[in-house]
Amino acid sequence: MIVLKGAEVSAKIKAEVQRILENSEGQVPRLAIVRVGERPDDLSYERGAMKKMEAFGLEAKSYGFPETISDAEFKEEFKKINEDPEVTGILVLKPLPKHICERDIENMMDPGKDLDGISPVNIAKVFAGDSSGFAPCTAEAVVEVLKANGIPIAGKRAVIVGRSMVVGKPLAMLLMKENATVTVCHTKTVDLPGTCRNGEILVAAAGRAKMLDGEYVGPGAVVIDVGINADGNGKLCGDVDFESIEGKAAMATPVPGGVGAVTTAVLARHLALAALGAGQ
Ligand code: NDP
Repeated sequence: MIVLKGAEVSAKIKAEVQRILENSEGQVPRLAIVRVGERPDDLSYERGAMKKMEAFGLEAKSYGFPETISDAEFKEEFKKINEDPEVTGILVLKPLPKHICERDIENMMDPGKDLDGISPVNIAKVFAGDSSGFAPCTAEAVVEVLKANGIPIAGKRAVIVGRSMVVGKPLAMLLMKENATVTVCHTKTVDLPGTCRNGEILVAAAGRAKMLDGEYVGPGAVVIDVGINADGNGKLCGDVDFESIEGKAAMATPVPGGVGAVTTAVLARHLALAALGAGQ
């Protein structure tokens, strides 16, 4: 089984970002990372994103707010960031606390700064197959892993486990744009193992530690693991039981070291493109 490493895909995206930056004369693009509270997974994602922006020659600034901030106060603060001409692009770490209306923030977000595709304009573009906006970074990262490794998508049966608005649904649209035949699975899917085995490309985005074992993987499948979970010992793991698919899958992404590194690289590319006015 070939292990598809995220670092190699990320390096290719870095070269692309450098070309974009060479052609843009303005200031260094700046990312605003907006966080409410101090959830460990948010802090870890934030650290990773900050490091990646720096490594790609971009700037990033964290805007952290206390968990106790009111809905009205947060909207006021978000408005300032959204309208700040020094801010090229924005990443809001989600989910926001329950007392803050996420939908309002999505609606307020300037589509030209919306690097993770949460605004209605960018979502509509993804669903319309219009690539002029910003798709959710993780969904785009999956397609990037396939393309960067020369894995054909057109005409292939792609099976996605998960139908969230950040991964499953937008990914279904992106793969369909690449002419895959897409099946989207969820908790009510009957015969999940059989449906997954039918996939020539299998994407796991359920958020269930090591749920997809060898029984879910057809011979020669390409398995992309989006999951970020902790196993019984608190160790980081994906949705795929990596060892048990050995001998079945032809290729697979590991966790850690797979899609996660590509997601932040895609975020960096979106930031560089936002500086050129993409997504406006
Ligand atoms: P959500 O919890 O929003 O969605 C999970 C989806 O998986 C739902 O559609 C759910 O179905 C489905 N699902 C859950 N359990 C099962 C099951 N037993 N059988 C079939 N379907 C199931 O998660 P996200 O989409 O936000 O994230 C998914 C995973 O990806 C998480 O591990 C998350 O940490 C990770 N992630 C990784 C990123 C990266 O950069 N690598 C970025 C974002 C997320 P239903 O709709 O029926 O409830």
